[in-house]
Amino acid sequence: MVDVRGLPVVDIHAHPFLNPGVLTPEQFTDMTAFGGGSREYMEEGGVAFSGPVNAELQRVKRETLYFKRMILDLAAYFDVEPTIESALDARNMAIAEGYREYVRSLYADAGITTIVFDFGIPLPSLDISQVSNELPVEIVPIFRIEPLIAELLKQDIGWGEFLRAYDDAINDALAHGGYKGIKSIIAYRTGLDVSPLSRTPDQGMQALDAIRRGLGGGSMKKLRDHLLCRAMELAMEHNVPMQIHTGMGDFEVNLVMCRPSYLMDLLRFPAFRGCRVILVHTGYPYHREAAYMANVLPRVYVEVSEGIPFASSAAWDIYDGVMAMAPMNKICYGSDGYKTPEIIFSSAKLGKQALADVLNTQIERKMMTEADAQSAAAAILAGNASELYGLG
Ligand SMILES: [Zn+2]
Repeated sequence: MVDVRGLPVVDIHAHPFLNPGVLTPEQFTDMTAFGGGSREYMEEGGVAFSGPVNAELQRVKRETLYFKRMILDLAAYFDVEPTIESALDARNMAIAEGYREYVRSLYADAGITTIVFDFGIPLPSLDISQVSNELPVEIVPIFRIEPLIAELLKQDIGWGEFLRAYDDAINDALAHGGYKGIKSIIAYRTGLDVSPLSRTPDQGMQALDAIRRGLGGGSMKKLRDHLLCRAMELAMEHNVPMQIHTGMGDFEVNLVMCRPSYLMDLLRFPAFRGCRVILVHTGYPYHREAAYMANVLPRVYVEVSEGIPFASSAAWDIYDGVMAMAPMNKICYGSDGYKTPEIIFSSAKLGKQALADVLNTQIERKMMTEADAQSAAAAILAGNASELYGLG
C-alpha cells in the first residue's frame, strides 16, 4: 500500500494572498467558491441583488461537492462538527490567536512545504516579501505575461520600444526579481491555437501597428501569439519552465479554445522543443489529451490544479486519466488556491487521498510495483516540481 501521509507537498500553482482575518460563513463562502456568481455578475445581468438573490448564490456555492469536502477537511482538522458554522468558529479562533502559527500548523498537517505563486492574480500584484513574511512555507513566485502586455498597450510607444520593454521586464523579473518561471493565460484572451510562425519579429510589428491604427481584426491575437512565442524563447534562455493555462477556468474562459490540443503545432515546432512547458490544470476536462502530449513531447508536463480541488470527486479520474499516458516524472501536483489558506490545505488533503487510491489501484491492476508507486507518489507531490523549479 502506498503511504502518502508523511510526504511533502509542493503546490505548483496557486495565487498569493495576505491574512484575510476573521470571516463570517458568508464571506468565507464567497471567498472560496470557484463559481456561483457574485453581486456584480447578477447586477450586470439586470438582476437586483436582494436578500433572496444573495441567499440563492450562497446556496449554489455551498451545494458543490468541493465546498462540502473543504468543510469536512476543516472540521476534521479542528475536531468539530462538520458544519460551516463550527468549522469557521474554530478557524476564526485560531486566526485570532495568530495567523502565521495557524497556517504553519494547517499546512504541516497536509505536508505542504512549498507554494509556487502566480503573482499575476490578484492585481495590482502583491509584494513578494510581504506574502513570504506572512506564510511559514517556501514561496516561489512566477511571472505572468498578460498584465505586462496590458500595461505596455496603454503606453504610447512603437514596436521597437514595446518589445524592448517586454523583454526587459521579463529578463529583470527572472534575473533579479526572484521569479522562477513564466506563466501565460492566453487561453483566456485569444485562445490556444497559436501558430509557431507567430515567432517571426515582423508579426509583432505588424500587429502592434494595426492595433495603434485602430484596425482591430485579428491584430490583437497576432500580437499575443507573437509575445507568447517570445516568452517561451526567454524561458529557454533563463532555463525556467513556462506554465500555460489550459482547460477550465473562471467563467470568462473560452471553454472550446482552451483545449490543450490547440497547442500541439506550437509545442512540437523545432524552435520550441527545448522549452519546458507545463500544461496547467492538465487541460481539465481534456486531461487525457494533455497527458498524451506529455507522453509524445519530451519537455511537456501536466499539472493537476483546479480539477483538484474544484472538480471534487474528479480527482480520482484526473490522476487515473493522466497516468494512463503521462510519464510519472512529468505529472505535478497543484491546487490553484487563492484568497485564504484553506483552499490550498483542503486541496492537498484531497490530492493526496486520490493519488494514493489511484496508485494502489495501479498496483492491484499489476501496472506497477509497490516501490514504483511509492516513488511516483513522492515525485508527483513534490519531486517533479522541485526538479522543474530547481528547489531545495
Ligand atoms: Zn490559477
